[in-house]
Amino acid sequence: MTARFDNLMMSYPLTLTHFFERSRRLFAKKTIATRVPGRPLFRYTYADFAERTMRLAGALATLGIRRGDRVATFAWNSHRHLELYWAAPLSGAVLHTLNIRLSPSDLTYIINHAGDSTIFVDASLWPVIAGIRDALPTVRRIVIMPDGVAGATETPTEHPEYEALVAGAEPVREWPALAETDAAGMCYTSGTTGHPKGVVYTHRAMFLHCLAEATADLFGLSENDRILHIVPMFHANSWCLPYSAVMVGADQIFAGANIQPPDICRLIQAEKVTFTGAVPTVWIAIKELCEKEGYDISSLRTIAIGGSAAPRSLQQAYAKNFGVQMSHAWGMTEMTPLGTVTRLKSYMEDWSEEKKYDVYSRVGYASVGVDVRIVDDSGAELPWDGECMGELQVRGPWVVASYYDNPESADRFTADGWFRTGDVATIDAEGYVQITDRTKDLIKSGGEWVSSVDVENLIMSHPKVLEAAVIAVPHPKWVERPLACVVPKPGSALEPSEIIEFLRPQLARWALPDAVEIIDAVPKTSVGKFDKKVLRERYKSWTPRQA
Ligand code: ADP
Repeated sequence: MTARFDNLMMSYPLTLTHFFERSRRLFAKKTIATRVPGRPLFRYTYADFAERTMRLAGALATLGIRRGDRVATFAWNSHRHLELYWAAPLSGAVLHTLNIRLSPSDLTYIINHAGDSTIFVDASLWPVIAGIRDALPTVRRIVIMPDGVAGATETPTEHPEYEALVAGAEPVREWPALAETDAAGMCYTSGTTGHPKGVVYTHRAMFLHCLAEATADLFGLSENDRILHIVPMFHANSWCLPYSAVMVGADQIFAGANIQPPDICRLIQAEKVTFTGAVPTVWIAIKELCEKEGYDISSLRTIAIGGSAAPRSLQQAYAKNFGVQMSHAWGMTEMTPLGTVTRLKSYMEDWSEEKKYDVYSRVGYASVGVDVRIVDDSGAELPWDGECMGELQVRGPWVVASYYDNPESADRFTADGWFRTGDVATIDAEGYVQITDRTKDLIKSGGEWVSSVDVENLIMSHPKVLEAAVIAVPHPKWVERPLACVVPKPGSALEPSEIIEFLRPQLARWALPDAVEIIDAVPKTSVGKFDKKVLRERYKSWTPRQA
């Protein structure tokens, strides 16, 4: 007789509803806080959070929000934003987190392209939305959230106010049954070429991503963590950490409006934060501050750093000066966002410092759930030898399968089911991925590739350097040549020749920048990364100065 293997295990949908309901019961006493500028932190418990989220869901229903509707947020990191993170998808709606730093024209495009029906706006950010309101035909309703920023514009009375809405709503006591393939959230990529592109996350993708993110070999998140959310909640779901944190029942602290490096240091110290994450530019600023002003950040068990390359010298400084080993991660909005995190394997623990940092300066090996490969220009797979450099491609249950309503970007997906990341990488025999560059940042000098990331990292290990970005400038003979734009540490007198002489013994001849421009600050993107597009534009007609 043939064995029958159907219907043997429950087909239980992998939805965020499970995380919420479980934590509501198990972790009711755990706490959530938000920094409110100029005032003590706002604090409440998971029980309060759950009750308010259920009320908010009731309010969404009375606002006429239906399954599949896009509910946008235009907000700082806060407990209210967290309530929306849960109430919208658990009601069957799709949470669309808008980047508060985008230009009015990009915002208008994104809101219209997503067809958002409602926008929840922090009061201090209202003027931005007010300025484009007339150009948003799909938006039926706007709700204003009191973010506590002094001097914020008066709440416009024609729009409902969040607190009144929540207080007056009937809580939802039973969530709708959802399919795991239902859409839960969406984010747009910053779109360095063409229009921004929308990525829609399913419940299943987020569920599996959170489980992986919490594993010991990724961020090792647990109930006893105190997690500070600095990564903006519009940047790839704040790396999905507000979802994972609720999943494990960790205490959470939200950064609030306009957070600055001294606020971050104070929060880590006062709240005994054990885990937080941000882009490298944030950690560069905080390192300087901690060294100067002596904040105690020793409660941190690790710091997630990613979004752009984490300089080796920075990681070494955090380990040596503050006893914190950073977790260098690589990911993308298109990957919910995690792809890889660097961990030493057990047999690497007794390697020399130098060799260990060779590993830490890579972005790690693939997370469980993510397949990675590198391919050459013809699409042929390259070996994992640490030498061959090719385009990094990924696949897995939390990797985008297509952009939202965007057939023009079909070329980002291969015929055999992989997503083309646009990053250039090597993978070594142990599986550690090294991001050489974004395709558009690579410098090709006379047929030789120069990794701008490698050169930047070396420059940033110079004791007088705060930040450095290396870009390609046009060259009549070599086509492109590297130009280093360097920001000295405050109070340091730095000569360009010092950088060149520092690099000379460490770099191949063709990789040595032609010149060093001393600048005041490296321009940053809306999520705090080095914005090389702006530098390339600034120096597009660059010619060497006469000696
Ligand atoms: P944005 O386009 O706004 O930067 P993402 O945050 O989705 O949006 O950017 C993803 C990209 O960031 C990756 O494709 C990669 O180029 C870069 N990146 C992320 N993490 C790292 C890292 N640890 N090292 C180098 N580059 C990184």
